[in-house]
Amino acid sequence: MCFYEQHRFACGDYKWGNFRQHCNKEYRMGETCGMKLVFHTTHLPQKCKICDKVDCKQRKRAAEVDRVHRWQREGDKFHASIDKSMEQIANLDMEIRNLNYEKARRRQQV
Ligand SMILES: [Zn+2]
Repeated sequence: MCFYEQHRFACGDYKWGNFRQHCNKEYRMGETCGMKLVFHTTHLPQKCKICDKVDCKQRKRAAEVDRVHRWQREGDKFHASIDKSMEQIANLDMEIRNLNYEKARRRQQV
């Protein structure tokens, strides 16, 4: 167990920072035992990169949904545009799902 800086983001995710201190188990210089413990936590005001991406994609998705609703009120005229937009929304949904999956995977790697 060796001690590291930890940066915690506003969303609750964190990343490890610099190595700070060896534990008692480790005698040899310059080596760490591989288990990470928190030496000090720095709270960051922003969200992590993945959450940022999710937010961004969700904003895009909301904008697409708005567009579709607008077009649907116009009747059949924008049929092709609506189809394209729906495809875009499905893609964004998939990307958001993947990002959330990645986030869950990272949280398990404590
Ligand atoms: Zn996050």
